[in-house]
Amino acid sequence: MTDCIFCKIVAGDIPSKKVFEDDDIIVFHDIRPEAPVHLLAIPKKHVATLAEATPEDNAVLGKLLQSGARLMVDQGCADGFRTLINTGRVGRQEVYHLHVHFVGGPDVLPPMLKR
Ligand code: AMP
Ligand code: ZN
Repeated sequence: MTDCIFCKIVAGDIPSKKVFEDDDIIVFHDIRPEAPVHLLAIPKKHVATLAEATPEDNAVLGKLLQSGARLMVDQGCADGFRTLINTGRVGRQEVYHLHVHFVGGPDVLPPMLKR
C-alpha cells in the first residue's frame, strides 16, 4: 500500500524509532506518546484493521502481543502497562494499518475509557 504511512515505515521510506524488527513485525516508538513509554507493534503485511484480519494472520497477531509485552518489560515497564487496539470509526482508528499500542510508565494509568 503506497499511501499507507506504516507501510512506508516498514519499507524504510520514512524514519521511525525502531526497537524491534523480524521477518513479520516491527515495533517502534509512537511519534506522539501518550505515556512515558508508548510503543506500536505492527505486522509488516498491510492489514487495514483488526476486523479485517484472517485466520492466516493469527500467528502474527500473537507475535505482536508477545513481542510487544517483552519489549515493554525491556523498556522498564515490568510493573505493568496497557495494550490497546483501536478499530475503525467507532474505535477512533487514525492509521488504517493494524497496530497494537503498548503504553506504560512509572505511574498507574488513568481509567481505560472516559465517560
Ligand atoms: P490509532 O488512533 O490507533 O490509529 O493510532 C495511530 C497512532 O500512530 C497515533 O498514536 C499516532 O501518534 C501514531 N503515529 C502516526 N504517525 C506516526 C509515525 N510516523 N511514527 C510513529 N507513530 C505514528
Ligand atoms: Zn500499510
